[in-house]
Amino acid sequence: MKNLKLSLIFAFLVILTGCQQESILDSSNAQDKAAEFESEAPSEKVSLTKAPIGSKVMMQAFYWDVPAGGTWWGAITSKIPSWNSAGIDAIWLPPVSKAQNGPFSMGYDPFDYYDFGNYNQMGSTETRFGSKSELQSLITTAHANNISVIADIVINHNSGGELESNIFTGTETYTNYTPASGLFNRTQYDFHPNDFHGNDSGAFGGFADLCHDKIYVQDWLWNNPNSVAKYYKDVMGFDGWRFDYVKGFEPWVVKNWLNAVGGFSVGEYWDGNAATLDSWAKSANSSAFDFACYYRMRDAFEGNDLSILETGDMLWKRNPTKAVTFVANHDTDEIYNGKLLAYAYILTHEGYPTIFYQDYEEYLDKDKLNNLIWIHNNKAGGTTSILYSDNDEYVAKRNGAPGLIVYINNSNSWLERWVSTGWNNTLIKDYTGNSNWEPYTQGDGWVKIQVPPKSYTIWSAK
Ligand code: ZN
Ligand code: ZN
Ligand code: ZN
Repeated sequence: MKNLKLSLIFAFLVILTGCQQESILDSSNAQDKAAEFESEAPSEKVSLTKAPIGSKVMMQAFYWDVPAGGTWWGAITSKIPSWNSAGIDAIWLPPVSKAQNGPFSMGYDPFDYYDFGNYNQMGSTETRFGSKSELQSLITTAHANNISVIADIVINHNSGGELESNIFTGTETYTNYTPASGLFNRTQYDFHPNDFHGNDSGAFGGFADLCHDKIYVQDWLWNNPNSVAKYYKDVMGFDGWRFDYVKGFEPWVVKNWLNAVGGFSVGEYWDGNAATLDSWAKSANSSAFDFACYYRMRDAFEGNDLSILETGDMLWKRNPTKAVTFVANHDTDEIYNGKLLAYAYILTHEGYPTIFYQDYEEYLDKDKLNNLIWIHNNKAGGTTSILYSDNDEYVAKRNGAPGLIVYINNSNSWLERWVSTGWNNTLIKDYTGNSNWEPYTQGDGWVKIQVPPKSYTIWSAK
């Protein structure tokens, strides 16, 4: 979902236009990946070097209000080879199907799940992002470049139905859906309230709130051979799922979807409480975006207290294989001081890190991000030990082989510090190039490392 403050505006739009709007998504899971890897993509050859989703770094391949006019799929397709070279293992696309706001929609007001820009409805044939064939070309290009593709699945709410007289509300509601694809027609019986119950765990703004308790809805979402899940996987070639606004329905919905089609999965459970995120991830058998990490990093870098990185509760600390870490996304795309330091944090720590398109392509230094991605993919293994923290310093070690030590400095001056590395009599260097020191660790593992102001160094055996 985008900005909760928009909800009020929505309420207006719903009154004025009959509703609309957007949201976010999810997906992930290394073991599932490996299993899926072997059985995937009947329609095309998959390289044996394609990495399981979650083993490298994800790219969020859009931002809010990307250029309209049907050019986005082509723009992304042209960047895929360079993202493969940089070490990206998966890209997350915005919702790909036709939404009520047609050629202007970011996709979070879904109407016809099977219109990928190939039916003339809602004001256009193409979606904001392009045509169905352009989307298919994007997916084929990604797979040829060993990159998996994650679909943004918006199933809490729908938008764009016709008015009908609703026996459950006693009013007229926009709950009559007859999409041009002819697939997954819906009526008042498929939304809340209905003849089964009044509501589920949440509705988004004034949007028609889909009822996943209805067998008919379950059949169309994941059970039928022609269900959304099976069509997206088997026909379109998607490899994983990002579930939007999962606070709006029960976690068993995601679990059942994954039981039906498998694949990496990450949920947008927008909550800064790490225990709550962990609970959802376990119930849904899905990864979750680590909003706890996101908020702790904001507090640490903007509030100038890096000790929060040590003391703060985060999903990756509780459940590293189910945590998808991020610094920014399409809903939180502000620029703040220390953003590159935050990327140095998530790309050296546990969890599956995500890079936001604009940070990579527009806002930050791409060479520095590529260096951090390389370090993540080549050095950042094993468990994490935090060696030191205070207001403006943070030092942590990844204990795997080869492992690394990351030293983050949020102050305005050069810093040095003796740290216990566990590496004895070892020549080490800073793989970021921010320091040119190449010290030997002592026989007891201690060594002095340094870091420039407002910067970071990342040390490992030379
Ligand atoms: Zn959103
Ligand atoms: Zn329901
Ligand atoms: Zn709901």
